[in-house]
Amino acid sequence: MVAPIIEILSVGAELIEGRTLDTNSSEIAAALNEIGLSATAFHAVGDDLPEIASVLGDILKRADLCICTGGLGPTLDDLTREAVAFACGKELRCDEDLLKTIREYFTKSGRKMPESNRRQAMIPQGAEAIVNNRGTAPGFHIECDGTLIICLPGVPLEMRQMLHESVLPMLQKRFAVGRHVKTRTLRLFGISESALADALGDIMARGKNPTVGTNASKAIIGINIRAKAETPAQAENLLAETEKRIRRLVGKYIFGEGKMELEEAVAQLMEKHGLTIATAESCTGGMLGAMLTNVPGISRYYVQGAICYSNEAKTQLADVPKELIRSKGAVSDEVARALAEGVRRRANTNIGVGITGIAGPSGGTQDKPVGLVYIAVADERGTESREFRFAGDRQMIRLRAALTALNMTRLRILERET
Ligand code: ATP
Ligand code: MG
Repeated sequence: MVAPIIEILSVGAELIEGRTLDTNSSEIAAALNEIGLSATAFHAVGDDLPEIASVLGDILKRADLCICTGGLGPTLDDLTREAVAFACGKELRCDEDLLKTIREYFTKSGRKMPESNRRQAMIPQGAEAIVNNRGTAPGFHIECDGTLIICLPGVPLEMRQMLHESVLPMLQKRFAVGRHVKTRTLRLFGISESALADALGDIMARGKNPTVGTNASKAIIGINIRAKAETPAQAENLLAETEKRIRRLVGKYIFGEGKMELEEAVAQLMEKHGLTIATAESCTGGMLGAMLTNVPGISRYYVQGAICYSNEAKTQLADVPKELIRSKGAVSDEVARALAEGVRRRANTNIGVGITGIAGPSGGTQDKPVGLVYIAVADERGTESREFRFAGDRQMIRLRAALTALNMTRLRILERET
């Protein structure tokens, strides 16, 4: 079956004037994905009758399904009903059952229905109402020249409930029969999105099943795999096959699945191997410690963290020799090692991590530019230290440094498994 053309239309002046973010469209698109359908396009228009009708008219020419939100309220600037009726060449009629339901909504809370709410019982000839249990604005659906138009209120809470209770079951019957979708997200660190695309090659080509896409957020990359099949088991098989291929190519960067964070991956590994950790941070100022303590139950593994911002603190809190700082500089491979080893010794842990660097925007030199960071991980087998040149502003450099320290720790622990 060819994929249906599905367009989503948001109505509201606040949307196109930039006062309200159109979250309804993305929520609907994501819900469609769950039942194996994909939106083709999003549109947004203001509360303007000719404008809404004109966009609707265009959509009707090509789409199999149009889902509208917004503009169903009781006030005169809520024009979606009129626009749909106009685009479909129908009259609005008063739906007596709807009027009763709306009246009851008010009676239940001891109020009298304002006359303006009568407008909400008006739906185009031939349309069927969709009940709204959370508000007064009912939705409706109507067939128009082979296009199904579904209108829902703009209030996200109301829209959501009607979408899940009434609309999705209806769409599943009509468009998504016998289709099952399985999705999985793999989470990666330490590779750029473009390098990843190169590594994955034709796995990411368009029009495949499963589809494979990537997204990046705060230095972490997600690979989204989506498989469609006739049965759930077939979808799972397809997905597993593609996942295996991806893991073969870029497995060393994958630290988890779904919503897993890097610190959780580290915590799981520490638990598995019965390890403890301590941290000594300069330029990240406790960010690494804060990330580790995001994980519930981490107190079993995370023993202590020192923020060694000044040179004196590096000596006081992690026993970094004064002479070493003087001769090599606070931002050096040697000091990173000394931080990791010093804090490990002090805290008597299996692992010690040291971070020192220049987060900027000032303080950089030709030799030691902004973004230069040394990270060291010490354990009973020795100390591994690496030099990095992170790009970005101060916050980004610090974030990358803390995440990289977590990832080095993860890889260091993984070496125990080989
Ligand atoms: P009612 O007037 O009964 O609340 P309605 O269908 O007329 O229902 P709107 O007036 O268009 O809804 O919007 C109601 C609320 O929902 C507003 O606060 C608006 O900012 C919000 N809203 C509308 N459309 C969207 C959207 N696409 N995404 C997120 N919020 C939206
Ligand atoms: Mg409104």
